[in-house]
Amino acid sequence: MVAALPKYDLHTHSTASDGTLPPEELLSRAAERGVELLSLTDHDTVAGIDLLKGHPLLDTVRLMSGVELTASWSGRMVHIVGLNIDTQSAQLRRYLEGLERLRNERAEKICQRLVKAGVPDNELLARAKKIAGGGSIGRPHFAQVLVEAGVVNNAQAAFKNYLGAGKTGDVKMQWPTFNEAIDVIRRAGGEAVLAHPTKYKMTFTKIRTLVTDFVQAGGAAIEVSYTGITPNHQADLERLAAQKEILVSAGSDFHSPGQSWTDVGKFPAVKDPERHILTQLL
Ligand code: AMP
Ligand code: MN
Ligand code: MN
Ligand code: MN
Repeated sequence: MVAALPKYDLHTHSTASDGTLPPEELLSRAAERGVELLSLTDHDTVAGIDLLKGHPLLDTVRLMSGVELTASWSGRMVHIVGLNIDTQSAQLRRYLEGLERLRNERAEKICQRLVKAGVPDNELLARAKKIAGGGSIGRPHFAQVLVEAGVVNNAQAAFKNYLGAGKTGDVKMQWPTFNEAIDVIRRAGGEAVLAHPTKYKMTFTKIRTLVTDFVQAGGAAIEVSYTGITPNHQADLERLAAQKEILVSAGSDFHSPGQSWTDVGKFPAVKDPERHILTQLL
């Protein structure tokens, strides 16, 4: 029998990547919402965690250091969350610098593609960089540029027409393999979690193969609950985790208070807490 888990959220974003709240405000929001354990998992950076060092609210909300690594598996882009990592790991820091270079290269290419597609070249890159504010630059920042330039009405439309999978601004990069991502997380003392398996536009057969490879490569858990997941998909993933004897994780994938359908600490409850990765990490 496992003692009750604290109220937690193991997948969130801040302005250090594509979230809209600075890390301090994310932490305040977590505290207001009664979240007792928070992992800040920005895309390809731990800069937000550095900023929270010594924050008084850390007495109320326990912070677990985290990251969401962009990686490739079988020619596709997947996201690997690292939990409880040592953010000072020199190897991890070097790895993240490599990802930052890739993101910067990709940003330039995204601009070129958008201009080619007829978007007015009104300092697109400079605008996106300004919105990213020195953090990990990503497609959501370009989505905002396209909205502000009046090219589309909202970020959803920007993804649908320009930035989403298969669209012109979905520039393919040689991201590190998911084995490399899992390795760097483990070497930094953390555990690797496969983020939101149903969000990759894969068939469930493909997801099974992905999870099999993930277990083989040393992954510890798969996310089975997150914003927008259907009860059926959650049940499928929980069954798959049990079959593969892998742990489960969960989090909101919160990005912004402007997205009324998500919030810190808000996601469907995990059905089998005995399989929860927190049973290993706490
Ligand atoms: P990137 O990290 O630059 O590859 O961008 C991926 C991010 O874009 C995800 O983490 C989401 O925050 C966001 N995103 C992906 N698809 C969509 C979509 N259809 N609508 C809005 N945001 C999206
Ligand atoms: Mn994101
Ligand atoms: Mn993700
Ligand atoms: Mn995320």
